[in-house]
Amino acid sequence: MNPIESLNAVCPWCDAPLEMEIDLTAGDRCYVEDCQICCSPILVNLTLSPTPDDDFRVTLTREGD
Ligand SMILES: [Zn+2]
Repeated sequence: MNPIESLNAVCPWCDAPLEMEIDLTAGDRCYVEDCQICCSPILVNLTLSPTPDDDFRVTLTREGD
C-alpha cells in the first residue's frame, strides 16, 4: 500500500473539487486542512481499514459546525 494516497474530494464549504494528499502512515486521525479554494478550515477524519488490502475512509466536515 502506498503510504501517501491522493483523494478527490469536495469542499464542505464551497463545493469546490479538491485533490488532497492523505498520509496513511500515521493511522487513524483527525486534522484540519484549509480548503485550497476558499481557505476555510476543513476537518478531515481519516479511518484506516483493519484489513491491509481494503481501502481507507475519509470524512470531511466543516470545522466549528
Ligand atoms: Zn472551499
